[in-house]
Amino acid sequence: MTKVGFIGLGNMGVPMAGNLVKAGYDVTGYDLLPANLEKAAARGVKSAESADAAAKDADIVITMLPAGKDTIAVYEKTSVLSVAAPGAVFVDCSTIDVASARRAHELAAKAGKLSLDCPVSGGVGGAEAATLTMMAGGSQEAFEKARPVLEKMSRKVVHCGEAGAGQAAKICNNMILGISMIGVCEAFNLAEKLGLSHQALFDVASTSSGQCWSITSYCPVPGPVPNSPANNGYKPGFAAALMLKDLLLAQEAARSAGVATPMGAEAAQLYQLFVATGNGGVDFSGIIEFMRGKTSAGQS
Ligand code: NAD
Repeated sequence: MTKVGFIGLGNMGVPMAGNLVKAGYDVTGYDLLPANLEKAAARGVKSAESADAAAKDADIVITMLPAGKDTIAVYEKTSVLSVAAPGAVFVDCSTIDVASARRAHELAAKAGKLSLDCPVSGGVGGAEAATLTMMAGGSQEAFEKARPVLEKMSRKVVHCGEAGAGQAAKICNNMILGISMIGVCEAFNLAEKLGLSHQALFDVASTSSGQCWSITSYCPVPGPVPNSPANNGYKPGFAAALMLKDLLLAQEAARSAGVATPMGAEAAQLYQLFVATGNGGVDFSGIIEFMRGKTSAGQS
């Protein structure tokens, strides 16, 4: 039976690891926080006392950690790369900077292991329902070997290219999302001032050239899309702090590649202000309230 080591059992890791148990895999997990280990254990994930114990003899080692420094710390400061089974694939599903992702691939290659950077899109809801989109960077061999396991957590798995390509796809996608959400919020604010109803703008824009996911699936005003966070006091969903993280990663990548992304920079600035005024835990679509001059989104 394929043995999976799962390191980082937070909001995303617990349901992802749980879905692998449901699919019949032997999953051993580790997290720094005992409470998170318990949550995973309730879904059938075996608890390990260290990252090394989770990775021991594993065929696939998945990490789902906050940032690049955390992935590098696990790869560099523990023995996970040497204790996993020969031929094991290391899959980092965290959203991290492209440079750290490439460094993680180098460390894995040095230890004779296969590796993928494989960030995900779809949030906690997608992790629960196993409907994530997963975007992988790394060799064809690593991708083919990991694919059956990745498919148990997702609706779509895309091999984006070589090392770092998964992270590149993730930050480009989320830069589009951050910019488009701000555009949609501006349009709804303007429509209100012009006496146009939310529903009227939605009916037109969702079926014409202004159409985008931020309107059709995640409309930032209550009403037109009944399950969007706007109908639930802007509870996340996708927290503004995570959107800011991804926009800053995109800016870092743009700087290092020498590419101008002025709209991405503007979106990062707006989300920075939104988060700095105490809205980090608010859904990212709540920025519409901030644009109306309210400092606290969720409390309209
Ligand atoms: P989280 O903070 O809930 O979980 C991260 C977990 O990693 C925590 O439980 C923490 O204790 C653990 N951890 C940190 N360092 C560790 C170490 N050295 N060893 C073992 N465990 C360690 O975060 P999350 O919401 O699950 O997100 C995880 C990653 O997925 C992030 O990179 C995030 O950007 C990305 N992501 C999140 C979402 C979302 O909606 N939450 C969506 C897409 C992508």
